[in-house]
Amino acid sequence: MRHRSGMAVLALAALLAGCTDHPPTPPAASAGPTPSPTGLPGPYATWAAGRSTPVVDPLYPKRGTDAVDVLHYGLDLSWSPPKHTLTGTATLHILPLRDAATVTLDFKPYALDAVTVDGTAAQGRVAAEKLVVDTPVKADVPVTLVVRYHGKPSTTPWPTKRGDSHPLGLTVDPEGGVWTMQEPFGAFTWYPANDHPSDEALYDIAVTVPTGWSGIASGTPVGHDGNTFRYRSTVPVASYLTTLAVGRYKKATATGPRGIPVTYWYRPDDAKYLPVLKKTPQMLDWLEKKFGPYPFDSAGAVMVDSISAMETQQMVTLGSGMAERGETTLHRNLLHEYAHQWFGDAVTLTDWRDLWLNEGWALYAQQLYSRDTFGVAQAELVRSSRELDAAYRKQWGPAGDPDPAEFGSTNVYVSGAAMLRQLHQALGDERFFDLARGWIQENLHTQQDRASFTAYVNKKTGHDFTALIAAWLDSPTTPPETKPLPAGQ
Ligand SMILES: [Zn+2]
Repeated sequence: MRHRSGMAVLALAALLAGCTDHPPTPPAASAGPTPSPTGLPGPYATWAAGRSTPVVDPLYPKRGTDAVDVLHYGLDLSWSPPKHTLTGTATLHILPLRDAATVTLDFKPYALDAVTVDGTAAQGRVAAEKLVVDTPVKADVPVTLVVRYHGKPSTTPWPTKRGDSHPLGLTVDPEGGVWTMQEPFGAFTWYPANDHPSDEALYDIAVTVPTGWSGIASGTPVGHDGNTFRYRSTVPVASYLTTLAVGRYKKATATGPRGIPVTYWYRPDDAKYLPVLKKTPQMLDWLEKKFGPYPFDSAGAVMVDSISAMETQQMVTLGSGMAERGETTLHRNLLHEYAHQWFGDAVTLTDWRDLWLNEGWALYAQQLYSRDTFGVAQAELVRSSRELDAAYRKQWGPAGDPDPAEFGSTNVYVSGAAMLRQLHQALGDERFFDLARGWIQENLHTQQDRASFTAYVNKKTGHDFTALIAAWLDSPTTPPETKPLPAGQ
């Protein structure tokens, strides 16, 4: 997510300114008795890459569940602009993780038209932002849940007081289109979801819209037939990193590093932002040089009617209200969201306590980019980093212990980035970027946390940085600057 607006952040900002393809036919619903080498029986082996280890979130325990592992979402969605109605069929391939009498997911506010489990009608109900389906399930025996639904979308409150906050989830814009931003949760406002990053899954999303409109979603575009636009994610996606936008879009394309296709979706009024959007290949090129290969097979950005921006996987969601704050703000925020494709998307946090693991890296990448691109002096970067770190620790406390009522508070960004800057100072360029590239390559498409990050840093460098990382994440005051390690160590 983009950096929060506000006086101090503005000061930092000023300082830094210086055709047609179809998804595979779903397999037969019932689970075959023969386990495949993936450990998943029968046709479910197709979605083995969607396996994960869901946990209950310590900050937001009511969202998501550790009772099921959704392997794959097949979403067939249709948006009616005049009626403001979403009609959907969601086909979820689910691995239950324990015996239960129901399957419970996050979902609102739709009317259910039909629910089936393995092809048999089942009772389902939507209440209190949950879908409950009465169906006995057994641990490790996958089921196919199909939910047909329709209704007018409604959002859910964002647990924060951020300056750029807005309700979370599927939002109708003044033109009758829709867009969504949904971190830390809110995907459940457009499809039934285990809405927690620890349960990443594969996706096939089809969006049907009226003639003259476009449907955009996260994942790799796999063409459109008629008015139906299709996207596929063959690597895991966290629910907060999915996106959906419907509008009267124009489309521009480009080629990124190593031939990666890049798509920009913009409304006629957004055409003035195209010169910055078109810097995408050079931004991805810069990021690749620092952090290794772009981790997906397509990239792009979609402009929406928001004041924020979000690192949705393979298709960044950019608010025009953010873009209108100026070319440098847009440029910097776009770089930030692309940096998240490595830090947050390819390697995802396990739970929301470790938001610093996403935002620290993305802001630090943004600071390095500002140094390289806008000529911000290293000494200024250090000075402002310490000054803001001190201010935000005082205001919000240490980054390693975020307040669930203040999601995305700026300390998580600034202190996380300052900790990474210490590692950089200790290790020097070569070893620091080797560390960063290794973190991505060795953990591609997994969820990680502070313990695994610390263990990785110590193992990779041969030094014990446990105390340094803990001090920068836990101390109520800004720790002293770290000196470079002596040569040869
Ligand atoms: Zn961010």
